[in-house]
Formats: sequence, structure tokens, C-alpha cells
Amino acid sequence: MGASRAWDVTRAIALDARPILTAVPNLDQSGRFMSLHFLQSPVQFLKGVGPKRSEALLEAGVVCIHDLLSYYPRRYLDRTSITSIREITVSSEPVTIIGTVITVGVIPNRRGQRFEVVVEDEPGRRIKCVWFQGVQWIARSIEVGHRLALHGKPSRYGGMISFSHPEFDRLDEDGPAIDTGRIIALYPGSASLEKSGLTSRSFRKIIFSLLKERGEELSENLPPQIVDTHQLMEGRVARRAIHFPRSQEELKQAERRLKFEELFFFQMMLARTRSRRADVPGIPIAGGGPLEKRFLSEILPFTLTSAQQNALSEIGSDLKSGRQMNRLLQGDVGSGKTVVAATIALKAIDAGHQVVVMAPTEILSEQHYRSLSSLLEPLGIRVALLLGSTPAAKKREILEDLESGKLKFVVGTHAVIQKGVTFNNLGFCVVDEQHRFGVLQRASLFEKGDNPHMLLMTATPIPRSLALTLYGDLDVSIMKERPPGRQPVHTKMVREKARKSVYADMLKEIQAGRQCYVVYPLVAESEKLDLKDAVSGHELLQEIFQGVSVDLVHGRMKSIEKEEVMARFVSGQSSILVSTTVIEVGVDVGNATFMLVEHAERFGLSQLHQLRGRIGRGSHASTCILMAEYRQTEESRARLKAMEDTEDGFQISEIDMRLRGVGDFFGTKQSGLPAFRLADLLYDQKILVEARKAAFSLVEDDPDSKKDENRPMEAFFETFVLKKGLRLSRIG
Ligand code: ADP
Ligand code: MG
Repeated sequence: MGASRAWDVTRAIALDARPILTAVPNLDQSGRFMSLHFLQSPVQFLKGVGPKRSEALLEAGVVCIHDLLSYYPRRYLDRTSITSIREITVSSEPVTIIGTVITVGVIPNRRGQRFEVVVEDEPGRRIKCVWFQGVQWIARSIEVGHRLALHGKPSRYGGMISFSHPEFDRLDEDGPAIDTGRIIALYPGSASLEKSGLTSRSFRKIIFSLLKERGEELSENLPPQIVDTHQLMEGRVARRAIHFPRSQEELKQAERRLKFEELFFFQMMLARTRSRRADVPGIPIAGGGPLEKRFLSEILPFTLTSAQQNALSEIGSDLKSGRQMNRLLQGDVGSGKTVVAATIALKAIDAGHQVVVMAPTEILSEQHYRSLSSLLEPLGIRVALLLGSTPAAKKREILEDLESGKLKFVVGTHAVIQKGVTFNNLGFCVVDEQHRFGVLQRASLFEKGDNPHMLLMTATPIPRSLALTLYGDLDVSIMKERPPGRQPVHTKMVREKARKSVYADMLKEIQAGRQCYVVYPLVAESEKLDLKDAVSGHELLQEIFQGVSVDLVHGRMKSIEKEEVMARFVSGQSSILVSTTVIEVGVDVGNATFMLVEHAERFGLSQLHQLRGRIGRGSHASTCILMAEYRQTEESRARLKAMEDTEDGFQISEIDMRLRGVGDFFGTKQSGLPAFRLADLLYDQKILVEARKAAFSLVEDDPDSKKDENRPMEAFFETFVLKKGLRLSRIG
């Protein structure tokens, strides 16, 4: 499992911060402490479990009673939502039926065998269910006469309405207490659970008898005033109702309560991390010094946007606070983050400190270097560029000047955190596109100075609920406004038949002295094929645009070659740049006004948005053409439509998350996003915000949960969140 580093570090910090609970003495002996003890006891000794099943449960992550109670149903069967077979038509909507098994049969076919079951719910009304996989096992678990609940999409197969691979649950033998309730819980299964007979039915049985016999031992694990303020269902009730809801309304309340709890404990962890950080002393930097003043009044060629001013004042008060700053500056491409970083850098330099800017690639570092030195050199400040490829003699000189303090400002890649780099008095670090660095790399920046202030920058907007989870322990400044004078980018999806007129438009731009990007997708598994696409696209364009300089850049090129090609484009020596997606976030060629994205339907929405950010950076109107296939999925049509409709990165990130679901939104293993059991960051934003507020104010009010009313919560947090990581499985 790629449990993320970010997560591990957060957890380590939180663990380290926990108060020492030696004897857990002040807890209400009879109720609360017992309850924890009870929750921790192994499931093996429960009625209906035993050694074989407990092994299968272990595989599913269920070790103790708390795990079992948190093994939440995947779905519910509400008797009111059962369809009768008579009503079923072939449709794309899944339906649930309940019926009795009439016939079963394993039927050999070309590839092996299939298992067919015919189910009837009233005389003569039948449906066929077919399994092509797992035949052996399913054949063993379904017999004539069984009553089954089946859930699937009806289709037509062999002249009969049928389900292929429906989900199924046996309903008989459950006894009145469990199955006649109107809403029946269905549990997530796995091969080994099912092999040891742990069907939904047996989960219901085991949990039912557990709650019946020992439910009294469950007690409230949230502070009572939080339960009150947020009108949450009581913990004990919720833990019963999530498994055995008496009504839809009760189920809804139980879900809300348990989602709240889950999000609350996660936010507790972030709140603790943050409050620990808040104790870290930082270099007090007052600001308002001579360099900063001159920069703002004489050098800066424009007035700051109000978004920039806000960010500056938020950062400014962090610097004054005497505590170390840890702030994330989020702003869409082109929102003007560089100027903000430069102004802060001057505050630090005014106060006698050194500044480092770290970017993830050489291209980006060079670009920062160029824009920062053109902003700062008029003030007599030398900015140095330090890359892995910097010649040894030059490198040595930079390192010496950093150590002596002669050099105040360095920009670079990882090279700036290498062993040999010693700062004289590092006060301010900027990490650009911070999500591309690991936490450890950031940490090694810390070590280069005496708790230098940290500004993390990102041009990758993410939805608020994700930001509160991923960066929930940081302070965040957001710049939504763009500098004035920007022309909007006109975005249009077209089909192959429009290609000729697209090329004609491109030619017009080139004749007007502008430059164009042509982008091809790069999908990992067919890298060669895509590369071929880009290479032949390059050849074609050279043929079509006679006398125009057309370049090609792709990931297989050596980085020195890439840099040369990029440099030609940046300096205007080439007019068309054909590329795979290697054009980096933040590459800034103001003269580029046209982008043609080939196979646009293959790109993710956020990726398209990032690409489009390469144009529309100057004062000329820009065009982005999305060339798409005639045949498209609904989702890809929605993506391209969103691109046509908006340029707002935050809005785009929300749409993207909705289209893909939270899990795939990042698609990266290092995202550090916890996978919650019940809560969904997409749909539960409101609960998230409430839970966060509750957690943060609790930590502020009672940092180590010393107050009596918070002790049971703390004990629970200790045992089930910090030690077990909430049993959150990490995405990736
Ligand atoms: P980001 O790093 O957020 O993508 P930059 O800092 O590179 O954005 O700014 C993009 C462009 O906008 C730069 O050319 C910069 O000079 C210009 N710019 C920044 N702030 C302003 C402003 N307040 N008014 C006008 N232009 C600005
Ligand atoms: Mg930038």
C-alpha cells in the first residue's frame, strides 16, 4: 500500500504530540473505560465467529469489535424499493428483486462453464441469473428453494430477461428479528469472507447478537457538547442504526453522525499538527523595509490585484507573529503568485535573511529565475540559479556565497537542498508546485535554516473539501482574481472535419507574429504509439506550414535537448511547438496565443485546464481548440463542455471531482488523501466543514484534551485513531 508520506508524517507528529495517558484514571470506570475495553476485544470470541471466520475477518481488516461495528453496510435493501419481476423491463437502471430459486445449473460453454439460476417471485414470473466467473463458488452457495435478494441490471439473454452477475443475498433462516425489519443491511463481501460463510446474512446475525447482548457497553465517544451543538445522533444509537435502521430517516441521522465522527477525528489530527506547529518559534520579520518599499512604489510595473494584496497581508502577519509560517498559496495559473513571492522575499532580505525558491523542474526553475531576477535586479539584488546541471565552478561559487551570506537569493531545483548547500541565514523558503515534492524534501529545507518561514505555492486548484483534508494543517491563502488586462481564452471543441480551418486560423496567428502549441496526449501504456502520433504530427505540420519553424518536444528526449527546444520557443525562434504533455505547468510564453489539443477526449479535465493555462498569458486574445473524436463517452463530452464554459480553475476542479469521483480525482499515489469509510468528500462538504470547526475549536480550547468532558473522546482517539490510523485505507 502506498500509504503516503505526508500522511505518515502528519500522523507521526500527532502521535508524538499526544499527552501521556498513563493510567487513564479519570474516566468513568463503569461506563466509558469499559466501553473502550469492550471495543478493543477481539471478534474471534463472538457468537457466530470462531477461528476460521475470524481469519477471514482479519483479512478484511476486522480484528476487534470496533472494527466490526465499523464494517459498514455497502447498501440497504428497503422492502419498499423491491421491484416485482412482472414490472421489470430491460433498462440501464439496476433493480432489486426478491424471489425463490426454481432451478440451478452449471452449463459448459466454449471457454469453460457458466452457472444459471432461475428465480420466481410469483407463479410464472421468472428471471434468469447468469454467472460466468466464480462459478464453482456460486454454484455451491445457491440451491433450489433458497430465497434470494438479487440486485442487478436487467438485460435480455437467450430470450429471457436476465441478470448477469447480480449481487445476491440469501434471506431465509434469518429469523424474524433480523430480516423482517423493513431495511436490511448488505455488507461488502470478498472471496475469503464468502468462503468462510460470512455472507451479509451472517454479518447481520453476528452484529445483531453482539448489539443485543453487549450494546449497553457502547458509550459516547464524542464530547457531549459537540453532540449537542451539532445535533448528532448519540453514538450508541448510531452504531445500532447503521446496521439495523428502523427507518430511512433514522439511517440518515446515523450516517450523518458517523460521518461527522470520522471527519472529526481526522480533523483532530490536523488540528493537533497545526497547533504543534504553532508552537514552533519563527523569525520575526516586521516588513515595510526599504527594499520592499522601493519595489512596490518604483519597480513594480503594475498595481497589485486585491487578491494579491490579501495574500500579502495574510503572509505579512504570519511573518510578524514570531511563529514559523506554514502557508499554502493557491492561485490559478497567471494569478500572479510570483510577484507575491518576490515581495515577501524582499521583506526577508530587508530583515537580513536569505531566500530560496525551489521548483520541481529545471524549466520551471529557470523561468522563476528569469522573472525574479528581472524584478529584483533593479534593486541591486543578485539572484542565482542552482541546478543539477550547473557547471561545477559556478556551483562552487554559489555555494560559497550562500555560506558567507554574500548571496541573498537562490532559485533552483532539488539542487538547493543537497548536502553541500549551507545557508548563512535562511529566513524564507518558497516551494513551487509543492505537491510534486515529498514532505521529506520540504523538511530538509527546514534544516537549512533556523525554522525559516515556508510558503508553498500551487497552481493546481482543488475543491475546498479536498484542500481542507489534504492541506488541513496549513494556513491557506487563495487568489481567485486574475490580473487585469488579460484576454479570455476562447475555447472550442471541434471535430476532424474542421481541421483545415483550424490550420488556417493557426496560420493567421503565426503571420501576426504569434506562436502556437500543438499538444498530443501521452498515455503511459501506449507511450510508443502516442509518441508516434506526436512525431508524425510534427512531420505533417512541417509539411503544411512551409517556411514556418516547427519544433517537437517530448518526454523521451534528453533534458538538455528539451531545454534547447523550449528555449527556442521562449525566445520566439520557433513558431509552432508540437509536444506531448511535457510542457510544464507554469511555462510562460506570453506570445503564445493558440493551442490545438489533439485527441482532447483522452485528457483529464484538470490536465486540459493546466495545458490551456499555457496560453492567454499576454495581452492578445487566445484560442484553444480541442480536437475530439466523433464518438465520445458522456463523461468526455462533459469534460470538453466544461472547458468551453469556464476558465475558473476552482470551478473546473469541482466539476472534475464530480465527474471522476474523489478517489480518481488526483489519480496519484502520493496524494495523501485518506479514504474514509462513510464520508465522501464530494457529497459531505457540509459535514466536513462542521466537523473541522468542532475539532479545531476543541483543540484550541483544550489542546491536550485534559478536561473531564473531553477525556473519553481522547481515549478513543488514542486507541482507534492514532494507533490504528482510523483504519483508513489510503488511496493508492
Ligand atoms: P502565476 O505564477 O500565478 O502563474 P505570475 O506571477 O507568473 O502568475 O504572473 C503572470 C503574469 O501576470 C506575469 O507576466 C506577471 O508579470 C503578470 N502580473 C502579475 N500580477 C499582476 C498585476 N497585479 N497586474 C498586472 N499584471 C500582473
Ligand atoms: Mg508562476
